[in-house]
Parts: sequence; structure tokens; C-alpha cells
Amino acid sequence: MLVAGGTDVYPNMKRRQFEPTVLVGLTGIRELRGIRGSAREGMTIGAGTILATVARHPEVVGHYGALATAAGLVSSPQLRNMATLGGNVCVDTRCNYYNQSYEWRKAIGFCMKKDGDICLVAPGSPRCWAVSSSDTAPVLWSLGARVRLVSAAGERTVGMDALYRDDGIEYLARRQDEVLTDILLPPVDGWKSAYLKLRRRGSFDFPVLGVAVAVRLDGAVVRDARIVLGAVASRPRAATEAAAALVGERLAPELIARVAGLAAGPSKPLDNTDFTHPYRKKMTRVFVARALRGIAGLGDGARSVEEVA
Ligand SMILES: Cc1cc2nc3c(=O)[nH]c(=O)nc-3n(C[C@H](O)[C@H](O)[C@H](O)COP(=O)(O)OP(=O)(O)OC[C@H]3O[C@@H](n4cnc5c(N)ncnc54)[C@H](O)[C@@H]3O)c2cc1C
Ligand code: SF4
Repeated sequence: MLVAGGTDVYPNMKRRQFEPTVLVGLTGIRELRGIRGSAREGMTIGAGTILATVARHPEVVGHYGALATAAGLVSSPQLRNMATLGGNVCVDTRCNYYNQSYEWRKAIGFCMKKDGDICLVAPGSPRCWAVSSSDTAPVLWSLGARVRLVSAAGERTVGMDALYRDDGIEYLARRQDEVLTDILLPPVDGWKSAYLKLRRRGSFDFPVLGVAVAVRLDGAVVRDARIVLGAVASRPRAATEAAAALVGERLAPELIARVAGLAAGPSKPLDNTDFTHPYRKKMTRVFVARALRGIAGLGDGARSVEEVA
């Protein structure tokens, strides 16, 4: 198993969710670190770049604002100084029945993601519904990012939609022998972006809803748009109908309310993370509206995180 910052791998090993016989450390590979390029020509972020660097890089902050926001909201300051962007893109899916100690899981009965053969959330289901819980994944998707995967056999670049699979266990289309080396951001070309995260604790917590919105404006008119939801399924989920409804229109309050309603359609969270799933679905509508208002410069949209005590 590959390990970068280890902030997900090592806790999972302690709980025996991961039991690799061999760990291959990536930290020593200098070529995996660093941010190159510019917003005008597109940027390349090495997979081994730590999240703290991504969150404060001037070109990222200034032109790919949602990515800086998302990177800066992952876990805690200490972890962001170890954790890498590549590790965040590849981070394991989560579930209340899985992110527990070995003894807890043994007592309740193992599930098919590790050591068992049924799903405890949906016992009749042939698949695992663990939740994609990366903050940066929906943002990178909304920005039109691609990732470079390298193996001894060669290299390929794939879009975020092709990287993620709708399965809680096999959630990545990355082959076992492939290393994710770079995240490629397209030229900014008029796009503006926002990311909002729902979590219980303000200090640190995984997202139980992430809303990434990117809009390409021509004056006041929307030329293109992407809305991608995190933590509502085993992969980030694009709200394509909602995004299409923005194109050719001005970002006015009535349109924002209609689009937010459409975006809640594909938000189908299951009851296997924090908060109730009807609440998380309802908050999708609220967050999409808030993100669009932020991009349009209207009202309360600037808030980037919802913290619930
Ligand atoms: C207390 C706590 C809170 C957390 N909160 C959040 C949060 O709010 N949001 C969030 O998104 N995450 C959170 N995390 C998870 C984790 O810290 C982050 O996702 C982090 O970005 C993972 O990066 P890493 O470099 O440490 O990955 P690692 O732990 O090293 O690896 C994670 C996975 O990615 C694979 N991998 C890593 N690098 C590569 C590569 N270059 N090529 C191919 N595969 C690779 C590993 O094999 C492993 O499967 C939290 C973790 C903890 C312990
Ligand atoms: S969704 Fe089901 S199989 Fe997957 S981790 Fe949760 S309980 Fe286990």
C-alpha cells in the first residue's frame, strides 16, 4: 500500500481497517512536490504537496478559491502540514459501521468493507455504500481538474469523473500499480468557484456534505457551470441538471433558488455518517444557494463553512 502523509493510512492501520504487508512511502520523492504554472496557462500541483501549501498558495487562493478553501478545511492544522493533496484525492470512503475500532466492529459483526460479508447499513444490498469524504475531490471535479497516473507500464491522465467509482470499497479507478503524480488544473478563463462544508465540529471534522460550485461568467451572464456534491454517495456526485439551468442566465435570486432546488435532487445521502440524512439533503439546497449567492456577490454567500454545535 502506498503512503504519503499517512494521516488516513496510519489511523486505519491502528484500527485494523488496513492490514498491508508492505508500505511504500512516497514522501522521499521530491518530484511529487510543488506547484507550477499560472492561472492563465493552467497549473500543475504535485500529488505530494501538503494541504497547508495548497491552501495558502497565492495563485490558488486568488484564482481557484474553492480549492484553497477546501484544502484549508481538511482536518486540523497539524494534519494539514503532513497530509498531501494526492492522499486527499485518494482518501478512503467512510461509514459509521466501519470507522470504528477493531473490537467495536468485532462486537457488532464485521461488514463487507472489511472482514465481513454483509452491509450493516443496507443488509439486503450486494454493495458497500461507504461515503466519499474528501473535501478536495468535489472541488477538483467542479474545476475541471484531471489527474496524472503513472506506472511502470506508462502514464495516463483522467478526469475526476473517471477517477471515482460508485462503490464504497472499489471507489477509485486507479490501478494498484499506479501512482497519482499530479493534479492538473485548467486555465482559470473566467471561472469563479466556491466550496461549502457541513460538519459538526468547527475545529476539525470530515465533511458530511460538501458543495462545490464553479461558474464561468461573461459579464453578468453564466456561460458554463458545474455543481458537484461531496459526502452524499460513494463518489462525488455532479448535479448536472442544476448546473445546466444556470447557463445563459443572470445570477438573480429567483434563478439561484430554482437551481438550488434542482441540485438537491441528486443529493441522496444514506444514514451512515453524522447527522440525519434528510437534514444533509435539505442542507444541499441551502449550501448551493449560499455558494451561488457568494459568487454573485449577493448577501450571506461568503460563509465557507457551516459548523453545527
Ligand atoms: C482526525 C482526522 C480528521 C480528518 N479530517 C478530514 C477532513 O475534514 N477532510 C478530509 O478530506 N480528510 C480528512 N482526514 C483524512 C486525511 O487526513 C486527509 O484526507 C488527507 O488529505 C490524506 O492525505 P495523506 O497524504 O495523509 O494520505 P495517506 O494517509 O498517506 O493516504 C491516503 C490514501 O491515499 C493513497 N495515496 C496517497 N498518496 C497517493 C498517491 N500519490 N498515489 C496513489 N495513492 C496515494 C494511500 O495509499 C491511501 O489509500 C482526517 C483524518 C484524521 C485523522
Ligand atoms: S456501507 Fe455497509 S458495507 Fe460499507 S462500510 Fe458501511 S456497513 Fe460496511
